[in-house]
Amino acid sequence: NCYLKDLLTPLLVSTQAIAQERHLQLQTQIPGNLPLVKVNVKALREVLSNIIDNALKYTPTGGKISIQAGQKKAKFQGIAISDTGPGIPPQDLAHLGERHYRGVQAQTQIPGTGLGLAIAQQLIEQMQGEIEVFSPAINSDISSLNTPGTTFIIWLPEVENS
Ligand code: ATP
Ligand code: MG
Repeated sequence: NCYLKDLLTPLLVSTQAIAQERHLQLQTQIPGNLPLVKVNVKALREVLSNIIDNALKYTPTGGKISIQAGQKKAKFQGIAISDTGPGIPPQDLAHLGERHYRGVQAQTQIPGTGLGLAIAQQLIEQMQGEIEVFSPAINSDISSLNTPGTTFIIWLPEVENS
């Protein structure tokens, strides 16, 4: 079991450093009273790093990344990671959990192995959590976020009675 705040704080410090270097704006929100979650801390750190790493590398200079803990749904605590990058086209979305799959845009320009999200998905499943992806191409109702780009939500099982 783990307090998300303890895990997120150091991660956000290193993310801020990279964001600054890449001229990206980083916006974070971690409410103080987050309930305990039932996770493997090391695995969750890896999951978050992979998703934040993607946001940092696929979002062009001048863009914005936002990391918001405190999302809620029944029995789950969520962390949302949004960026104002190019988004993930529908033909890529279906393949994100596959090992070595790289998006059509990524293949040509930005280096990577195509493993980050496959690993993240596997680790999250082991914790009985969920990963949700929103990209405006498929979720036209997400215009409430008022950005193009991509949003990942990591859902983690809450510890009951915490
Ligand atoms: P690796 O993480 O192994 O270095 P990678 O980033 O290409 O390589 P994944 O993290 O698994 O691999 O991502 C798979 C593909 O999903 C990417 O190649 C990219 O096309 C797309 N993708 C993932 N996150 C984003 C994002 N935030 N914005 C745009 N495209 C993304
Ligand atoms: Mg990646």
